[in-house]
Amino acid sequence: MILGTEYRIEIHKWSEDSELSKNSWVGYCCCDLPLIVIADLDDEEHFHFDNEEEKDVYFKSSLRHEIIHAFLNESGLKDNFEHVPRMGHEETMVDWIANQFPKIADVYEKLGIL
Ligand SMILES: [Zn+2]
Repeated sequence: MILGTEYRIEIHKWSEDSELSKNSWVGYCCCDLPLIVIADLDDEEHFHFDNEEEKDVYFKSSLRHEIIHAFLNESGLKDNFEHVPRMGHEETMVDWIANQFPKIADVYEKLGIL
């Protein structure tokens, strides 16, 4: 549930999802369906990891990134200005929020301000 909207999370094979393959994406977030897709990281033709832990970290990081897109979508910011020039998400900031959120939440929790 993202701000009242239920998103499905699906794992798609890179070779069977043209959105992933034609854009060289690992994941995407579609607010119209609503759906979050993460590439099947077991596809060794497109992804290489030294071990399962590395793959797990990458999966979680990718999913966190797409969930931030979903929050932005559901709060009224639906477009990506790297793709649609008028407004939208800035990918570096999406990554920053996705990566720093657990640490921010930890600080808020310790201060009792969540
Ligand atoms: Zn993104």
